[in-house]
Amino acid sequence: MARYRGPVCRLCRREGIKLFLKGDRCYKPSCPIEKRGTYPPGQHGRDAKRGKLTGYGEQLREKQKVKRMYGMLEGQFKNYFEKASRQRGIVGENLLFLLERRLDNVVYRIGFATSRAHARQLVNHGHVRVNNKKVNIPSFQVRVGDVISIKEESASNPIILQSFETAVGRGRPSWLEVENRNILAARVVALPKREDITQPINEQMIVELYSK
Ligand code: SF4
Repeated sequence: MARYRGPVCRLCRREGIKLFLKGDRCYKPSCPIEKRGTYPPGQHGRDAKRGKLTGYGEQLREKQKVKRMYGMLEGQFKNYFEKASRQRGIVGENLLFLLERRLDNVVYRIGFATSRAHARQLVNHGHVRVNNKKVNIPSFQVRVGDVISIKEESASNPIILQSFETAVGRGRPSWLEVENRNILAARVVALPKREDITQPINEQMIVELYSK
């Protein structure tokens, strides 16, 4: 699947907030946003003023922020929006729930990976099991009752183990419950709720943008 391959810290600086795209570094003082603040990227970024955005500009930035947070390209993100529009309920929330239920996001949220990009790599490379069966599709939508685990041969991988340990500090959402710490498994005990998504997102702006 196509994805952005450029420098990721630049994306955080573009959006002016931490998008948590780089694993452990995002939680350390060496994060460029922590070190240098949120001025825009580029040679003159430090001197550039963020102009006041128009309604359209704000909506566009909000969409870009969420798209980048979840590692989506425009076409994929739009497809999620269209799917969310066909579902019952509030479109913006439906969109976020579809993104949250992606297998790569779930692997990240449980803590098997330090970032969504790392999680996607684990899924693509066949390290992840859903109900004991290999699933190597990052966009796979998890359902209540599914058990997500790391395959036995990879369970001693030090990067996965360390990420799992440090995930406690990052906080796991309540809809994912760690099953058995020894075999690296967690169960989807509920569907995500709006309050489980703690990053600052105004999904209504994305709805307004795509509704023009
Ligand atoms: Fe963003 Fe993480 Fe880079 Fe900080 S370290 S700017 S949060 S990707």
